[in-house]
Amino acid sequence: MEKVERKEVYDIPVTDENGLPISIVWKPDLYKLQQESPKPQPVFASSAVSGCPFFYGLEYHGAMNHKEANSLLKHEGNYLVRLSVSSEEKTYTLSLRIFGRVHHYKLFYDGQHYVSQKRFNTINDLVADGLVTLYMESKAGKYIHLMHSLISYEKSPYMTLNKLKRKTIKKLKPTQLNAEEFVDYDKPHSFKTHNFKGLNWCELCGNFLWGFTQQGVKCEDCGFSAHFKCSEKLPADCCPDLKIFRGVFGIDLTTHVKTYKTNRPFVVDKCVEEIEKRGMSVEGIYRVSGFQEEMDSLRLALDKDGKATIMGDQAYENIHVVASILKMYLRLLPIPLITFDVHPLIIRALDINMTWERLAEVSTALKKLPPAHYNTLSYLMAHLHRVTLQSEENKMTAQNLSTVFAPTLMPMPDLIAFKGAIPDMNRDISALHMIIENQNVIFD
Ligand SMILES: [Zn+2]
Ligand SMILES: [Zn+2]
Repeated sequence: MEKVERKEVYDIPVTDENGLPISIVWKPDLYKLQQESPKPQPVFASSAVSGCPFFYGLEYHGAMNHKEANSLLKHEGNYLVRLSVSSEEKTYTLSLRIFGRVHHYKLFYDGQHYVSQKRFNTINDLVADGLVTLYMESKAGKYIHLMHSLISYEKSPYMTLNKLKRKTIKKLKPTQLNAEEFVDYDKPHSFKTHNFKGLNWCELCGNFLWGFTQQGVKCEDCGFSAHFKCSEKLPADCCPDLKIFRGVFGIDLTTHVKTYKTNRPFVVDKCVEEIEKRGMSVEGIYRVSGFQEEMDSLRLALDKDGKATIMGDQAYENIHVVASILKMYLRLLPIPLITFDVHPLIIRALDINMTWERLAEVSTALKKLPPAHYNTLSYLMAHLHRVTLQSEENKMTAQNLSTVFAPTLMPMPDLIAFKGAIPDMNRDISALHMIIENQNVIFD
């Protein structure tokens, strides 16, 4: 039997050109900004105003000048709709408070509400999107301007995730004379403005597609998703066959479970079930990596065949392939399983001396996770705990598993933002160790 390579093998780079570890394919900064942006808070009239158009509700205050509106809007995100009394023609005005100032916009309705190009079903949707856009432009205007000019197609998330698939698709083509050679496609993408559901990231620059509607464009032929501006920078090498291979890797977890109508991503369930069947006593499970070629094959199968993927020992004799794929799936999530906002709460809880108080604090913090993240983490931690019960055979103690999983479940923030200071991974490892050992009391 071939000796199993101990080095972790992935088809995405593990270090950047400076030798620093790359823990993320997707950039979290703009997503974090959207999370912290003010949320719409309507200020309602005390009763329905007579003459209120059918397309407005209690947020409509009737005839009102901007000074009166200003005095009613006290908090960030407060808004109302009024009839402008200053002009001769009858116009509806949206008044909205952000950054301590009230802004006024002329409102239109043609079956949908709009201020400029974007159309919305409700005023609340319009305000939510407007607040995010204003917040982004104010906090990250420079970054947003730069991000379109700093992109490298070769290093884009699209290439990182799909280069291999594109090669494989080509290999399947009998017309290809030299199957090993990478030939560029010569077809432009067919981009259309798209309303993305859930949370999505630009496959060219790796940044979040912010807003709630018309966040960017999507190629009708291959599914490439991007910001409007980024899409203009793409070379004409659309690969339409890729559409059937776009499945689960690199997709936001909540978006994924909503698409598949499951509690947890099926990849996690399938891998865990397979490992419980034949991997629990295997030495170094989750530490030892699978072979590259088999991992590529399994990843393609999961992306293409979804839940129907066959991953039994007939197909993948080496169980480390299945374990590595599970880790890879988790590592490629745009929002880590332990999310950016919950991570610091857990690290802080480590400082609590009393064991029970500490565990209660961690339990409370984890309840702040989105439900799909919570369910998946709870399932995974129960599984890892069962792995530790056989550590005499598999040599994987809670400490060993935490060391392996911490960078995957709590990846480092953007290295650029850090300026060289590498965070203390030991804290992450201790936190995970505690969760694995106490998962039965921490989770409901
Ligand atoms: Zn395309
Ligand atoms: Zn972009």
